Amino acid sequence: MFQLSERLAALSPSETLAMSQKSNELKAKGIDVINLSVGEPDFFTPDHIKYAAKQAVDDNFSFYSPVPGYLSLCKAITEKLKNENNLNYNTGQIVCSNGAKQSVCNVLLSIIGPGNEVIVPAPYWVSYVEMVKLAGGTNVIVSAGIEQDFKITPAQLETAITPNTKALILCSPSNPTGSVYSREELRGLADVLVKYTDIIVIADEIYEHINYVGQHESIAQFDDIREQVVIVNGVSKSYAMTGWRLGWIAAPQWIASACNKLQGQYTSGPSSIAQKAAEAAYTGSQDCVKIMRDAFHRRRNLIINLAKDIPELKVAIPDGAFYIFPDCSAYIGKSFKGRKIAHSADLAMYLLEEGHVASVGGLAFGAPDCVRFSYATSDENLVEAMKRVKTALLALE
Ligand code: PMP
Ligand code: GLU
Repeated sequence: MFQLSERLAALSPSETLAMSQKSNELKAKGIDVINLSVGEPDFFTPDHIKYAAKQAVDDNFSFYSPVPGYLSLCKAITEKLKNENNLNYNTGQIVCSNGAKQSVCNVLLSIIGPGNEVIVPAPYWVSYVEMVKLAGGTNVIVSAGIEQDFKITPAQLETAITPNTKALILCSPSNPTGSVYSREELRGLADVLVKYTDIIVIADEIYEHINYVGQHESIAQFDDIREQVVIVNGVSKSYAMTGWRLGWIAAPQWIASACNKLQGQYTSGPSSIAQKAAEAAYTGSQDCVKIMRDAFHRRRNLIINLAKDIPELKVAIPDGAFYIFPDCSAYIGKSFKGRKIAHSADLAMYLLEEGHVASVGGLAFGAPDCVRFSYATSDENLVEAMKRVKTALLALE
């Protein structure tokens, strides 16, 4: 009898990708679905980046790259960290991978094993908890509700720490909530972490440039915990390059070396062409980043106004990323033609099947009362989608 490994049997599929897939299946059947499920910019990759990739093909960047990425890309990343974030790293501390998804997984597989606990603030990005499971570790979920803008406090962090705590995963700007930790809030968390020098913070900063409240704040800026911080970032969101698959870490040397060793055995360096494209993204004009951020900002204001018009939806105003994460508890427990909506995953499925709008239920993000809508799409789509959501929600009784 064929049997999957225990590791695989315990793994849940990615809900974000699953909802997007389901939406595409309905579209293929001719149903006019508006997809607000998967989180990816709707913009095309900027021309100067595409040009660099074409050039790389012609220049025969067709051989294996060094496992952590070309030195020129690692250098472009250290310069970005210096210029944009005022952080000094050397190129040996950078490891480039097949998307930030692999970067997070590399770090977890490198430092987490059975018996180790990882503190994951909820709402969390769906993949963190599954990656911790893959590594054999234990998730310790710390919940932060809408009333605290979905951000954990230093006291909550300290309460969750045990002698087995090995890491904290902090995502700011956050997927799925869009919340952004301020410098003071990060300092508060750092004041706790400084007392536990063997805890590593995995700071997922993939939405760094999609921030509507000003300069990005990294927890790595605090020198007293700097040796405990791994920054995760990449080009997917800032440069509309989700399909190119290029993410990276900036890490203490021992973690960078471990990820290099791990990656050398199971994927090698990321695509040579994607690396040359990413290098152009970091060294070229940053106008495209601002243009896309401004568009997301305008769409955020639009979708917030539309969502606030839906009775009994509790909507926080997100400061970054491109998601809204309303609390829909008023509609959970209601029914449509005898079909009971037991939780947010049911609600997302109902919105897809009856309202033809794809979203992702908050259950997969550790927030069973909420639903995530990505607003990385056109104004027309947002207006029509929220009209459909309103009609579908009001049809519940
Ligand atoms: N972190 C967060 C919070 C994300 O939303 C995503 C989604 N793409 C990733 C990491 C991974 O990004 P990628 O693998 O496309 O670089
Ligand atoms: N991170 C995006 C999302 O949350 C892309 C899908 C994924 O990789 O999970 O929708």
